[in-house]
Amino acid sequence: MSFSSYIQGIFTGLRSLAGGMRITWREFRTAKVTMEYPENRKTLAISDRWRSELIMPHDEQNEHACTACGICMINCPNDTINVISATTDTIDGKKKKILDKHLWDYGSCTFCNLCVITCPSDAIIFNNDFEGAVYDRKKLVHQLNHEGSKLREKKGEPVKVTREGTTDKANRQE
Ligand code: SF4
Ligand code: SF4
Repeated sequence: MSFSSYIQGIFTGLRSLAGGMRITWREFRTAKVTMEYPENRKTLAISDRWRSELIMPHDEQNEHACTACGICMINCPNDTINVISATTDTIDGKKKKILDKHLWDYGSCTFCNLCVITCPSDAIIFNNDFEGAVYDRKKLVHQLNHEGSKLREKKGEPVKVTREGTTDKANRQE
């Protein structure tokens, strides 16, 4: 290598270094767009359209809209839903099917939304609570109907759903 090409190499290296530093300084002064999770939990905005966890809204009387018809279970392409029904006697002596357990497996759901769309009672919805990680796979099976809940007798307004308190995580299968 000649002396002149050696010097030229030094200048090429310095020019390249200056170019890199120019980009570094420019990015150093621009507003940060990365978010630090979970520190940003309080300000984190997840789209309402995000399908995360299937839930069954209950009202203040602990009543839901599920008639245990099983349509969601039949339509689920992934065998993710298990509707367990029971029968009860009505006042006029007839037998009536009621919901015992509505089980949904977070671990096998593809979030296709077919169950929600085809439910004739609008009894289930997806929330956008994405923090569903657990250490035990068995805990991915959620019981959607709350303990002691029952079918809402009168068809009224849909239950107002808030992001907090819509799930009964304590009811998850152990
Ligand atoms: S979203 Fe799709 S895969 Fe998941 S439970 Fe509903 S129908 Fe089944
Ligand atoms: S959630 Fe809807 S489709 Fe599924 S069993 Fe209940 S009423 Fe029927």
